[in-house]
Amino acid sequence: MVKRNRNIGRLKAAYLFPEIARLRREFAAQHPDAKIISMGVGNTTEPILPHIAAGLTEGARRLERAETYSGYADEGLAELREQISGVYYKVAFGIDEIFISDGSKCDIGRLQTLFGPEVNIAVQDPSYPVYVDGSVVIGAAGKDDTASGGGYSGIRYLPCTPENNYFPDLSNIENDSIIYFCSPNNPTGAAADKRQLSSLVAAALRTGSIIVYDAAYSDYIRDGALPKTIYEIPDADKCAIEVNSFSKSAGFTGVRLGWSVVPKGLRFAGGESVNADWSRLTSTIFNGASNIAQYGGLAALDGEGQREIRQMTDFYLENASLIRGALNTLKIDCVGGDNSPYIWARFPGRASWEVFAELLEKYHIVTTPGSGFGPAGESFIRFSAFSHRAGIEEACRRLTAR
Ligand code: PLP
Repeated sequence: MVKRNRNIGRLKAAYLFPEIARLRREFAAQHPDAKIISMGVGNTTEPILPHIAAGLTEGARRLERAETYSGYADEGLAELREQISGVYYKVAFGIDEIFISDGSKCDIGRLQTLFGPEVNIAVQDPSYPVYVDGSVVIGAAGKDDTASGGGYSGIRYLPCTPENNYFPDLSNIENDSIIYFCSPNNPTGAAADKRQLSSLVAAALRTGSIIVYDAAYSDYIRDGALPKTIYEIPDADKCAIEVNSFSKSAGFTGVRLGWSVVPKGLRFAGGESVNADWSRLTSTIFNGASNIAQYGGLAALDGEGQREIRQMTDFYLENASLIRGALNTLKIDCVGGDNSPYIWARFPGRASWEVFAELLEKYHIVTTPGSGFGPAGESFIRFSAFSHRAGIEEACRRLTAR
């Protein structure tokens, strides 16, 4: 018999979101009349706006005609890569430094394959689960599963707490690490400023590390002083890869389209090009993003598409502001929601799963327990603004009525 991959067996419990879905189903079965409102997952709810949707339709139509039909597109349409470079990056990257993908989560998984099991890992704690779980799966999380507060011994957890204003102490990063850093952050909603990101880049250069910068929520940044990409920081192109996505900006969570930037200046210890290896790896285990999705992406990047992205992200930010308003009325300490669709609420002295259960049982609201994002998330709850407006308004009424 084939032996199970022991690293899969080392993953802690079920993946967070299927577990939440299971608890929701269980509650719904016991309370069939309850009108459950989801403020839990990061899944978009609003329809794709007309101009971007027309781009997707055009992408499908092109497949009907011999003159416009296309098959595999390897690293992605050149035009799309040029547009991404122009719209998102002032330091215009060459199209061979931008790789189109089926989303940033998938890119993170493939990057983990690229770096392999021998690297050190540092993550913000709390953090989006794939950084840790994906590292466990490829065997980069060390040997001991019960180290430091329930974490993995091969991973340096960098606590992001109210005490450090949700920006970690970087002095703990080991040499030669992959540093996962997400801003605006899921789950805390914190967005790092220029000074903070400059210290992150300095720490990576000092320790010979590579930052995997997850900018999936960059289109939610409203404060003009906050960097939207790590490459606003000088020398980041020598130590950082960036992943980004159309999921949360254009509503492409189900369409699937994202990209990675791997600058040509980025080198491994032996001087080898990270860009060349990434190109080799992605062409080996990935056959490119859907060409239909890529035409949607092109529409999202022109003037009208950018206006629609603004409209979509404004909508979710208004939801976030309603949630924050309700939590403020209840005098619950919270952050986020201003440059991000997530609000991070603190319940001192209480376990996250206990607060999750109370919110579900009393108010019929599904949230996400902070401890599911890492040890430092204990006693926190993440509220997501990805919900229909009527649901958010009803949830706020329920929370503040009692
Ligand atoms: N990165 C972060 C921080 C996320 O929160 C998510 C989705 O919730 C993703 C990446 C995944 O994005 P995609 O849909 O592009 O795979």
